[in-house]
Amino acid sequence: MAPEETKEKNILDSIIYKYASSDNGQIDDENRILKETVNKLREELDKLKSPPLMVCEVRDVYEKTAIVSIPNGNQFLVQISEGCEKLKPGEMVIAEQKNLTIIKKISAARQFNVERFVIVGKPTVTWKDIGGLDKQVGEIIEVVELPLKKPELFKKVGIKPPKGILLYGPPGTGKTLLAKAVAESTDSTFIEIVAAELVQKFIGEGAKLVKEIFEMARNKAPAIIFIDELDALAAKRMEIGTSGEREVNRTFMQLLAEIDGFKPLDNVKIIGATNRKDILDPAVIRPGRLDRLINISLPSQEAREEIFKIHTRNMSLDKDVNIKEIAKKMDNFSGAEINAVCTEAGYFAIRTDRIKVTNKDFLDAIEKVRQEETLEGEDYMGMFG
Ligand code: ATP
Repeated sequence: MAPEETKEKNILDSIIYKYASSDNGQIDDENRILKETVNKLREELDKLKSPPLMVCEVRDVYEKTAIVSIPNGNQFLVQISEGCEKLKPGEMVIAEQKNLTIIKKISAARQFNVERFVIVGKPTVTWKDIGGLDKQVGEIIEVVELPLKKPELFKKVGIKPPKGILLYGPPGTGKTLLAKAVAESTDSTFIEIVAAELVQKFIGEGAKLVKEIFEMARNKAPAIIFIDELDALAAKRMEIGTSGEREVNRTFMQLLAEIDGFKPLDNVKIIGATNRKDILDPAVIRPGRLDRLINISLPSQEAREEIFKIHTRNMSLDKDVNIKEIAKKMDNFSGAEINAVCTEAGYFAIRTDRIKVTNKDFLDAIEKVRQEETLEGEDYMGMFG
């Protein structure tokens, strides 16, 4: 072969080699990427197929076993897997769903953002917004406001004020209003818990939530913890059978422990409210707990007049409005119903293009509110056949 030909062939060979090797490289790269993608997808698929693990709380630990409680409150004796760290009661762990074998500890105990579950704020209700409850207001000032404002007075005299009070009476008579007003007058943080919600919504977590609510109250002190519908949590129980009842009972026990855990002159006060004092567990009103009971009953004629004046103070009333007659016709009405009458009367005026609200508007409104109450009552009875 002529030298030129040899040279040409060499160049050609090197080009062919270059292209061939670069093709191989590309194919290798593509192959690698595809393999990685398949692996990732396989992992994802495995994740989707694997059953969820359960989060439990450790109650007691033995050598290779432990007692855990699952979120509905039931407890089980379970195995601890080999690789699991040393456990202590109170810690949170994840466990297999089928046999609850503990797989590993999860570092933080479940933390609630308590403020998402309770109403926390600084109310603007004042004593002037409450009508016909002078005696009860006086008592609350003495047992809640004074110890918060002048604890040294109690120290000097040597007496212990109650840690908390119980307001009891029919719905809509101003129990929440009183609790808010004392929070306002003492510039305290107002923390409102609806006990029925606490036991229904936070199954398995009620006791923990109670603990954290009290902790928050201490951090935000001075504070008033208002527990509405206390009977949902603190009702007498004949026997504690179902896991739901055990759970309510645990939450209640935690509440008692928290009340017992602070001193009368600490700047956190508890106000419980109920429409069913008759079914309350006596443990909650024992001395040293919510031991001052304040009855809030339906307002008298005089009290109804006062409440009426409060709710009409910003309304423009016609000269013919006869407060005595209106209050008389609102016999057996609660403060909430009197408030509803005032709003309804305002609507009667608006519907006929008037600004001034007349006596007749109020009388018509009373009829309307009374009818609505009767209908609601019938519906309620209907539910029970
Ligand atoms: P429940 O037992 O249903 O929780 P409650 O006793 O806590 O009821 P509140 O929520 O305090 O009742 O009252 C509801 C509304 O009724 C108040 O916002 C207020 O408008 C009116 N009201 C009730 N009682 C009075 C009162 N004594 N003076 C002025 N307004 C009142």
